[in-house]
Amino acid sequence: MCGEFLSPGILPQLEQLGLLESFLAAEPARIHRMVLNYGRVEKTAKLPDTAYGLSRFVLDKLLYDAAVSAGAQAAGASAPPGVAPVVLATGRRAVAPRGKRLFGFKSHYRGPVGDAVELYFFRGGYVGVSPVESGLTNICGLASEDILRNWNFRFDDLVASVPTLNRRISPLTREMGWLSTGPLVFRTESRKNPVEGLYPAGDALAFIDPFTGSGMLIAVTTGSMAGSAAAQNLPVRDYLQKCAGLLNRPFEFSSIFRRVLTAGVPSLLARLTPGVLLYRLTRPRLS
Ligand SMILES: Cc1cc2nc3c(=O)[nH]c(=O)nc-3n(C[C@H](O)[C@H](O)[C@H](O)COP(=O)(O)OP(=O)(O)OC[C@H]3O[C@@H](n4cnc5c(N)ncnc54)[C@H](O)[C@@H]3O)c2cc1C
Repeated sequence: MCGEFLSPGILPQLEQLGLLESFLAAEPARIHRMVLNYGRVEKTAKLPDTAYGLSRFVLDKLLYDAAVSAGAQAAGASAPPGVAPVVLATGRRAVAPRGKRLFGFKSHYRGPVGDAVELYFFRGGYVGVSPVESGLTNICGLASEDILRNWNFRFDDLVASVPTLNRRISPLTREMGWLSTGPLVFRTESRKNPVEGLYPAGDALAFIDPFTGSGMLIAVTTGSMAGSAAAQNLPVRDYLQKCAGLLNRPFEFSSIFRRVLTAGVPSLLARLTPGVLLYRLTRPRLS
Protein backbone atom coordinates (compact mmCIF):
# COMPACT_ATOMS: atom_id res chain seq x y z
CA MET A 1 0.00 0.00 0.00
CA CYS A 2 2.05 2.90 -1.26
CA GLY A 3 2.36 5.63 -3.91
CA GLU A 4 5.58 3.85 -4.99
CA PHE A 5 7.38 7.13 -5.67
CA LEU A 6 11.05 6.94 -4.71
CA SER A 7 12.94 10.14 -3.92
CA PRO A 8 16.21 10.65 -5.83
CA GLY A 9 18.19 10.10 -2.60
CA ILE A 10 17.27 6.40 -2.80
CA LEU A 11 19.97 5.71 -5.43
CA PRO A 12 23.05 6.28 -3.21
CA GLN A 13 21.33 4.33 -0.41
CA LEU A 14 20.75 1.34 -2.69
CA GLU A 15 24.28 1.62 -4.05
CA GLN A 16 25.67 1.46 -0.52
CA LEU A 17 23.65 -1.72 0.02
CA GLY A 18 24.99 -3.23 -3.22
CA LEU A 19 21.52 -3.18 -4.76
CA LEU A 20 21.83 -0.50 -7.41
CA GLU A 21 22.28 -2.93 -10.28
CA SER A 22 19.30 -5.10 -9.41
CA PHE A 23 17.18 -1.99 -8.78
CA LEU A 24 17.97 -0.58 -12.24
CA ALA A 25 17.49 -4.02 -13.81
CA ALA A 26 13.89 -3.91 -12.59
CA GLU A 27 13.44 -0.90 -14.95
CA PRO A 28 11.84 1.57 -12.56
CA ALA A 29 9.97 4.48 -14.20
CA ARG A 30 11.99 7.71 -14.28
CA ILE A 31 10.28 10.77 -12.89
CA HIS A 32 11.49 14.26 -13.79
CA ARG A 33 8.70 16.65 -12.79
CA MET A 34 6.22 17.34 -10.03
CA VAL A 35 2.73 18.70 -10.53
CA LEU A 36 0.68 20.09 -7.65
CA ASN A 37 -2.97 20.54 -8.54
CA TYR A 38 -5.36 22.42 -6.23
CA GLY A 39 -8.39 22.48 -8.49
CA ARG A 40 -8.20 25.61 -10.61
CA VAL A 41 -4.59 26.33 -9.59
CA GLU A 42 -1.79 24.06 -10.80
CA LYS A 43 1.94 24.33 -10.17
CA THR A 44 4.57 22.41 -12.10
CA ALA A 45 8.27 22.17 -11.27
CA LYS A 46 11.25 20.22 -12.50
CA LEU A 47 12.59 17.87 -9.80
CA PRO A 48 16.17 18.71 -8.73
CA ASP A 49 17.20 15.12 -9.63
CA THR A 50 15.57 12.10 -11.27
CA ALA A 51 13.15 10.26 -9.00
CA TYR A 52 11.96 6.68 -9.57
CA GLY A 53 8.79 4.62 -9.54
CA LEU A 54 8.95 0.93 -8.66
CA SER A 55 6.12 -1.20 -7.32
CA ARG A 56 6.40 -2.46 -3.76
CA PHE A 57 5.87 -6.01 -5.09
CA VAL A 58 9.30 -5.71 -6.70
CA LEU A 59 11.15 -3.35 -4.33
CA ASP A 60 10.20 -5.13 -1.10
CA LYS A 61 11.27 -8.52 -2.47
CA LEU A 62 14.60 -7.07 -3.57
CA LEU A 63 15.27 -5.59 -0.11
CA TYR A 64 14.02 -8.59 1.85
CA ASP A 65 16.04 -11.11 -0.19
CA ALA A 66 19.17 -8.95 0.14
CA ALA A 67 18.74 -8.64 3.92
CA VAL A 68 18.29 -12.39 4.34
CA SER A 69 21.23 -13.26 2.08
CA ALA A 70 23.39 -10.78 4.08
CA GLY A 71 22.61 -12.79 7.22
CA ALA A 72 19.55 -11.08 8.71
CA GLN A 73 17.01 -13.39 10.32
CA ALA A 74 13.29 -12.56 10.28
CA ALA A 75 12.54 -12.40 14.00
CA GLY A 76 8.73 -12.18 13.97
CA ALA A 77 6.57 -10.73 16.70
CA SER A 78 7.93 -12.84 19.53
CA ALA A 79 11.60 -11.77 19.46
CA PRO A 80 12.41 -10.86 23.07
CA PRO A 81 14.31 -7.57 23.22
CA GLY A 82 17.59 -7.86 25.09
CA VAL A 83 18.46 -11.38 23.89
CA ALA A 84 20.03 -10.09 20.70
CA PRO A 85 19.90 -6.69 19.03
CA VAL A 86 16.67 -6.44 17.04
CA VAL A 87 15.85 -4.06 14.19
CA LEU A 88 12.18 -3.23 14.55
CA ALA A 89 10.91 -2.77 10.97
CA THR A 90 7.28 -3.69 11.50
CA GLY A 91 5.78 -0.56 9.94
CA ARG A 92 3.01 1.66 11.27
CA ARG A 93 1.02 0.65 14.32
CA ALA A 94 -1.56 3.14 15.52
CA VAL A 95 -5.05 3.64 16.77
CA ALA A 96 -7.06 6.81 16.17
CA PRO A 97 -10.42 8.13 17.37
CA ARG A 98 -13.33 7.21 15.08
CA GLY A 99 -14.60 9.90 12.71
CA LYS A 100 -11.29 11.72 12.41
CA ARG A 101 -9.37 8.83 10.96
CA LEU A 102 -7.39 9.01 7.73
CA PHE A 103 -7.25 6.09 5.29
CA GLY A 104 -5.05 5.40 2.28
CA PHE A 105 -6.11 3.67 -0.96
CA LYS A 106 -4.19 2.56 -4.03
CA SER A 107 -4.47 0.81 -7.38
CA HIS A 108 -2.46 0.30 -10.58
CA TYR A 109 -3.73 1.59 -13.92
CA ARG A 110 -2.60 0.90 -17.48
CA GLY A 111 -2.49 3.47 -20.28
CA PRO A 112 -0.37 6.44 -21.41
CA VAL A 113 2.54 6.88 -18.99
CA GLY A 114 3.70 10.28 -17.72
CA ASP A 115 7.08 11.42 -16.37
CA ALA A 116 5.75 13.37 -13.38
CA VAL A 117 4.60 12.74 -9.86
CA GLU A 118 1.25 14.53 -9.71
CA LEU A 119 -0.68 15.39 -6.57
CA TYR A 120 -4.34 16.39 -6.73
CA PHE A 121 -5.52 18.08 -3.53
CA PHE A 122 -9.17 18.38 -2.57
CA ARG A 123 -11.07 19.17 0.62
CA GLY A 124 -10.13 16.47 3.15
CA GLY A 125 -7.56 14.57 1.11
CA TYR A 126 -5.35 14.16 -1.93
CA VAL A 127 -4.56 11.63 -4.66
CA GLY A 128 -1.17 11.01 -6.27
CA VAL A 129 -0.61 9.84 -9.85
CA SER A 130 2.86 8.48 -10.52
CA PRO A 131 4.40 6.01 -13.01
CA VAL A 132 5.97 2.69 -11.98
CA GLU A 133 7.58 -0.10 -14.02
CA SER A 134 6.05 -2.04 -16.95
CA GLY A 135 3.93 0.84 -18.27
CA LEU A 136 1.79 1.01 -15.13
CA THR A 137 0.65 4.10 -13.26
CA ASN A 138 0.14 4.11 -9.52
CA ILE A 139 -2.89 5.99 -8.25
CA CYS A 140 -2.80 6.36 -4.52
CA GLY A 141 -4.70 8.66 -2.20
CA LEU A 142 -5.45 9.58 1.33
CA ALA A 143 -8.72 10.94 2.68
CA SER A 144 -10.54 11.43 5.93
CA GLU A 145 -13.09 8.90 7.08
CA ASP A 146 -16.06 11.28 6.69
CA ILE A 147 -15.17 12.01 3.05
CA LEU A 148 -14.76 8.29 2.32
CA ARG A 149 -18.06 7.50 4.01
CA ASN A 150 -19.78 10.08 1.76
CA TRP A 151 -18.65 7.91 -1.15
CA ASN A 152 -19.44 4.66 0.69
CA PHE A 153 -15.73 3.82 0.44
CA ARG A 154 -16.14 3.50 -3.36
CA PHE A 155 -12.72 4.79 -4.41
CA ASP A 156 -13.62 4.90 -8.14
CA ASP A 157 -16.43 7.35 -7.34
CA LEU A 158 -14.21 9.44 -5.09
CA VAL A 159 -11.48 9.90 -7.73
CA ALA A 160 -14.12 10.61 -10.39
CA SER A 161 -15.55 13.38 -8.18
CA VAL A 162 -12.39 15.50 -8.49
CA PRO A 163 -12.76 17.05 -11.98
CA THR A 164 -9.06 17.62 -12.77
CA LEU A 165 -8.12 14.15 -11.51
CA ASN A 166 -11.00 12.56 -13.40
CA ARG A 167 -9.79 14.20 -16.63
CA ARG A 168 -6.22 13.03 -15.93
CA ILE A 169 -7.08 9.38 -15.42
CA SER A 170 -9.88 8.99 -17.94
CA PRO A 171 -7.50 7.54 -20.63
CA LEU A 172 -6.32 4.90 -18.09
CA THR A 173 -7.83 1.55 -17.12
CA ARG A 174 -7.66 0.13 -13.63
CA GLU A 175 -5.65 -3.13 -13.56
CA MET A 176 -6.25 -4.37 -10.04
CA GLY A 177 -8.72 -4.01 -7.18
CA TRP A 178 -8.29 -1.12 -4.76
CA LEU A 179 -6.12 -1.74 -1.71
CA SER A 180 -6.79 0.32 1.38
CA THR A 181 -5.08 0.87 4.71
CA GLY A 182 -5.54 2.81 7.90
CA PRO A 183 -6.08 4.51 10.16
CA LEU A 184 -2.96 6.54 9.38
CA VAL A 185 -1.46 8.35 12.34
CA PHE A 186 1.65 10.47 12.05
CA ARG A 187 3.45 9.44 15.23
CA THR A 188 6.96 9.13 16.55
CA GLU A 189 6.33 7.20 19.79
CA SER A 190 9.20 4.72 19.58
CA ARG A 191 11.61 7.66 19.40
CA LYS A 192 10.34 8.83 22.79
CA ASN A 193 10.41 5.47 24.60
CA PRO A 194 13.69 3.75 23.73
CA VAL A 195 14.12 0.08 24.64
CA GLU A 196 17.73 -1.15 24.90
CA GLY A 197 18.58 -3.66 22.15
CA LEU A 198 15.62 -2.61 19.99
CA TYR A 199 16.41 -0.32 17.02
CA PRO A 200 13.23 0.97 15.35
CA ALA A 201 13.50 1.85 11.65
CA GLY A 202 11.16 3.11 8.92
CA ASP A 203 7.53 3.65 9.87
CA ALA A 204 8.08 1.82 13.18
CA LEU A 205 10.39 4.72 14.03
CA ALA A 206 8.23 7.50 12.63
CA PHE A 207 5.56 7.76 9.94
CA ILE A 208 5.79 10.81 7.67
CA ASP A 209 2.88 12.10 5.59
CA PRO A 210 2.80 10.18 2.28
CA PHE A 211 2.50 13.37 0.15
CA THR A 212 6.22 13.97 0.84
CA GLY A 213 7.20 10.78 -1.03
CA SER A 214 9.99 10.41 1.56
CA GLY A 215 8.72 7.39 3.50
CA MET A 216 10.63 4.69 1.61
CA LEU A 217 13.83 6.76 1.48
CA ILE A 218 13.55 7.22 5.26
CA ALA A 219 12.80 3.50 5.73
CA VAL A 220 15.78 2.34 3.67
CA THR A 221 18.11 4.92 5.26
CA THR A 222 17.08 4.28 8.86
CA GLY A 223 16.98 0.53 8.14
CA SER A 224 20.67 0.68 7.16
CA MET A 225 21.48 2.87 10.17
CA ALA A 226 19.59 0.55 12.53
CA GLY A 227 21.41 -2.49 11.12
CA SER A 228 24.82 -0.85 11.67
CA ALA A 229 23.86 0.36 15.15
CA ALA A 230 22.61 -3.12 16.09
CA ALA A 231 25.78 -4.77 14.76
CA GLN A 232 27.89 -2.41 16.89
CA ASN A 233 25.59 -2.63 19.93
CA LEU A 234 25.30 1.18 19.99
CA PRO A 235 23.19 2.60 22.82
CA VAL A 236 19.67 2.98 21.40
CA ARG A 237 19.51 6.62 22.58
CA ASP A 238 22.58 7.47 20.45
CA TYR A 239 21.02 5.78 17.43
CA LEU A 240 17.75 7.66 17.94
CA GLN A 241 19.62 10.95 18.25
CA LYS A 242 21.29 10.35 14.88
CA CYS A 243 17.87 9.63 13.37
CA ALA A 244 16.43 12.84 14.86
CA GLY A 245 19.11 14.89 13.08
CA LEU A 246 17.98 13.33 9.83
CA LEU A 247 14.24 13.48 10.34
CA ASN A 248 13.24 16.49 12.44
CA ARG A 249 13.11 18.99 9.58
CA PRO A 250 11.00 16.95 7.12
CA PHE A 251 8.58 16.01 9.89
CA GLU A 252 8.14 19.62 11.01
CA PHE A 253 7.48 20.93 7.50
CA SER A 254 5.17 18.10 6.48
CA SER A 255 3.10 18.55 9.65
CA ILE A 256 2.64 22.28 8.92
CA PHE A 257 1.53 21.44 5.38
CA ARG A 258 -0.84 18.73 6.65
CA ARG A 259 -2.47 21.10 9.16
CA VAL A 260 -3.29 23.54 6.36
CA LEU A 261 -4.64 20.65 4.30
CA THR A 262 -6.82 19.21 7.08
CA ALA A 263 -8.15 22.69 7.82
CA GLY A 264 -9.98 22.05 4.53
CA VAL A 265 -8.55 24.90 2.50
CA PRO A 266 -6.53 23.43 -0.38
CA SER A 267 -6.67 26.75 -2.28
CA LEU A 268 -4.71 28.31 0.59
CA LEU A 269 -2.07 25.68 -0.02
CA ALA A 270 -1.69 26.86 -3.58
CA ARG A 271 -0.69 30.31 -2.38
CA LEU A 272 1.45 29.06 0.51
CA THR A 273 3.30 26.26 -1.27
CA PRO A 274 6.78 27.40 -2.20
CA GLY A 275 6.89 24.92 -5.14
CA VAL A 276 10.08 22.90 -5.25
CA LEU A 277 11.17 24.32 -1.88
CA LEU A 278 8.44 22.26 -0.22
CA TYR A 279 9.92 19.21 -1.94
CA ARG A 280 13.39 20.01 -0.58
CA LEU A 281 12.15 20.76 2.94
CA THR A 282 10.37 17.42 3.27
CA ARG A 283 13.43 15.28 2.35
CA PRO A 284 15.62 13.79 5.13
CA ARG A 285 19.03 15.44 5.57
CA LEU A 286 21.35 12.86 4.01
CA SER A 287 25.09 13.49 4.02
C1 LIG B 1 -1.27 5.85 1.28
C2 LIG B 1 0.22 5.84 1.38
C3 LIG B 1 1.00 6.25 0.30
C4 LIG B 1 2.38 6.28 0.41
N1 LIG B 1 3.13 6.69 -0.67
C5 LIG B 1 4.48 6.74 -0.58
C6 LIG B 1 5.28 7.09 -1.70
O1 LIG B 1 4.79 7.32 -2.81
N2 LIG B 1 6.63 7.15 -1.53
C7 LIG B 1 7.22 6.86 -0.33
O2 LIG B 1 8.46 6.95 -0.24
N3 LIG B 1 6.49 6.50 0.74
C8 LIG B 1 5.14 6.43 0.65
N4 LIG B 1 4.40 6.02 1.72
C9 LIG B 1 5.09 5.68 2.95
C10 LIG B 1 5.74 4.32 2.83
O3 LIG B 1 4.79 3.37 2.39
C11 LIG B 1 6.30 3.90 4.18
O4 LIG B 1 7.03 4.96 4.74
C12 LIG B 1 7.19 2.67 4.03
O5 LIG B 1 6.43 1.57 3.54
C13 LIG B 1 7.81 2.28 5.35
O6 LIG B 1 8.46 1.05 5.23
P1 LIG B 1 8.59 0.09 6.47
O7 LIG B 1 9.42 -1.04 5.99
O8 LIG B 1 9.02 0.86 7.67
O9 LIG B 1 7.10 -0.40 6.79
P2 LIG B 1 6.13 -1.29 5.90
O10 LIG B 1 6.32 -1.02 4.46
O11 LIG B 1 4.78 -1.11 6.51
O12 LIG B 1 6.64 -2.77 6.15
C14 LIG B 1 6.53 -3.39 7.40
C15 LIG B 1 6.28 -4.87 7.14
O13 LIG B 1 6.46 -5.59 8.35
C16 LIG B 1 5.46 -6.57 8.43
N5 LIG B 1 5.31 -6.92 9.86
C17 LIG B 1 4.64 -6.25 10.83
N6 LIG B 1 4.77 -6.86 12.01
C18 LIG B 1 5.57 -7.94 11.80
C19 LIG B 1 6.08 -8.96 12.65
N7 LIG B 1 5.83 -8.97 13.94
N8 LIG B 1 6.86 -9.92 12.12
C20 LIG B 1 7.18 -9.91 10.79
N9 LIG B 1 6.71 -8.96 9.92
C21 LIG B 1 5.92 -7.98 10.44
C22 LIG B 1 4.24 -5.90 7.83
O14 LIG B 1 3.29 -6.85 7.40
C23 LIG B 1 4.87 -5.15 6.65
O15 LIG B 1 4.94 -5.97 5.51
C24 LIG B 1 3.01 5.92 1.62
C25 LIG B 1 2.23 5.47 2.70
C26 LIG B 1 0.85 5.42 2.58
C27 LIG B 1 0.05 4.93 3.75
